Amino acid sequence: MKIPFFRLSECDEEKQLVNEVLDSGWLTTGKFARELEQRFADYCQTKHAIAVNSCTSGLHLAAEALSIGVNDKVAVPTMTFTATAEVVRYLGADLVLMDVNPKTLLVEPETVKDTIERTPDIKAVMVVHMAGQPAIMAGENGIQTLCNNAGIPVIQDAAHAFPCWDKYGPIGSFGDITVFSFYANKTMTTGEGGMVVTNDEAAATRMQKMRLHGIDRDVFDRFSGKRADAWIYDVVAPGFKYNLPDVNAAIGVAQFDKAFEFRDARERIAKQYESAFADIATVEYLESRVAAERHAWHLFPIMVTDKSVVDRTELIHKLNELGVGTSVHYRPIHQLSYYKNRYDLRAEDFPGAEHYWNRCVSLPIYPAMTAKQVDYVIECVLKTTGAV
Ligand SMILES: *Cc1c(COP(=O)(O)O)cnc(C)c1O
Repeated sequence: MKIPFFRLSECDEEKQLVNEVLDSGWLTTGKFARELEQRFADYCQTKHAIAVNSCTSGLHLAAEALSIGVNDKVAVPTMTFTATAEVVRYLGADLVLMDVNPKTLLVEPETVKDTIERTPDIKAVMVVHMAGQPAIMAGENGIQTLCNNAGIPVIQDAAHAFPCWDKYGPIGSFGDITVFSFYANKTMTTGEGGMVVTNDEAAATRMQKMRLHGIDRDVFDRFSGKRADAWIYDVVAPGFKYNLPDVNAAIGVAQFDKAFEFRDARERIAKQYESAFADIATVEYLESRVAAERHAWHLFPIMVTDKSVVDRTELIHKLNELGVGTSVHYRPIHQLSYYKNRYDLRAEDFPGAEHYWNRCVSLPIYPAMTAKQVDYVIECVLKTTGAV
């Protein structure tokens, strides 16, 4: 059996909408991008949804709109993809890395609190809902609450968190700015793409301009012929080229409509893994702190224990030989040479992320997987680690 780490589901609806875009002759940002924005604004119950060409560009726009600049400090979890960290450096700001709970990969509110206390001039906090489970945002001791109380904005990197629900509601429905990813192997895709949602008027206005060269209104308005003076434009800042083309947005509209079914399918796979590994000494999986139906189940990482006869590197190689594709999420930021050297970072300051990183392997979890394929992955993990 050959099971890739990720495979896209059938794309009949996507093909139809992409054809519509090609037939229309309008390939760049247009009505499908608007349509996708509308869907996210409705789902998140936010005033603004801004389609962008990646989550990375969305995070950059968000940080820029919050006026993060040279020598500012931004708190970022060490357990994330490098994109979350790099946008801080795009703006000349510096990172303050936070460790994560190795059982959930989430930053604990306590850690955010300590970070703010130790570094009172923190300008913003980034939160990552790792693997598709929401960090503790709501409630008296939630991250959103304690940052609000300290006057510090929170940017949520929700690249794994669609669809996903916290006590407050869907991720994206609360907080300052939230950014989703539509990268090729995320829970919904446009090939490359992303979405920024917010209720912050000033930030939304800034991001809308900066998304397209700093022009004061977008190309679609200028060419849609609604206004007699539609040819006039002005540039108010040296903006970026971060708009989402309609070719991609059309894929997104079709994917959005299936995203909730996709989530249900991933939940079924997660439950199959969890029941197989529940009483097994050689592997562990992440703790859930929310009901299964609130979890996006984007990733299913397992950790090999010291009862396993192979370490995680051997496990990756053996699974590959058996036809099972895997991945690792992620090599912590504090280990990456650029950040390690710039900030003189030490492994012992991040015991949670280190513990997880040394043991982790992410197993395939996507709607196109059959129950038989999941069984095969389970069988390979159990045999290889010496559980059976
Ligand atoms: C995928 C990912 C990103 C980057 O998303 P792009 O859309 O590829 O820019 C950022 N953060 C996390 C946590 C991710 O998994």
